[in-house]
Amino acid sequence: MNIFQAVKENVTARQAAEQYGLKVNKNGMVCCPFHDDRHPSMKVDKGFCCFACGAKGDVITFVADFFHLAPLEAAKKLAEDFQIPFFIDNAKKRNVSKKKEKPKRTLYQTEKKFEEWERESIRILSDYLHLLEEWKVSHAPKMPDEEWKAEFIEACQQTEKINYYLDLLVFGELQDRIEFLLDSGKDVKRIEERMEEYRRNNKEQTGKSIGSEGNEL
Ligand SMILES: [Zn+2]
Repeated sequence: MNIFQAVKENVTARQAAEQYGLKVNKNGMVCCPFHDDRHPSMKVDKGFCCFACGAKGDVITFVADFFHLAPLEAAKKLAEDFQIPFFIDNAKKRNVSKKKEKPKRTLYQTEKKFEEWERESIRILSDYLHLLEEWKVSHAPKMPDEEWKAEFIEACQQTEKINYYLDLLVFGELQDRIEFLLDSGKDVKRIEERMEEYRRNNKEQTGKSIGSEGNEL
């Protein structure tokens, strides 16, 4: 039996999803980590299948995609995390000390990547929050019957949510932070694009910079 078979016989995609912090509901559905999914569209069982984006495969594919690993690395990670003993042939035994270090390095890289991602998200969200606070003042209606500007409406709608996100990322438990980045990582990316677009347009139209990152005024 090779490591792939050993892993697939012992761990289901559902167990892996739970192990790595995804919330699986009673029906075996989970928010798909491979697309921007707000309501669970992915069925996890022995394997997994997303009804929205079409991602599917077995437990090894799941972990490989989830952590951006090669299939063999994913299988090794699963074998280690689920403590699955697997057959090591003689050729591999000779390299056993070398091989042992590899999953650790991979895990370390995953942690680093997560930390970077988290720092970047906090930067983007604080930047956006700052911009919203500016809008609340600079774009506030000056007359009672004046039509509200889009920026003012956006500021009113988004401030609370962004504050909540920031609280969660800064003070939340690790599992909640991982879940947030899996669920809302793409939202954060979109916010970044939104700010870039706004800054670009605003510069073109008025020659003025806006927001906390403004480098001229
Ligand atoms: Zn999906």
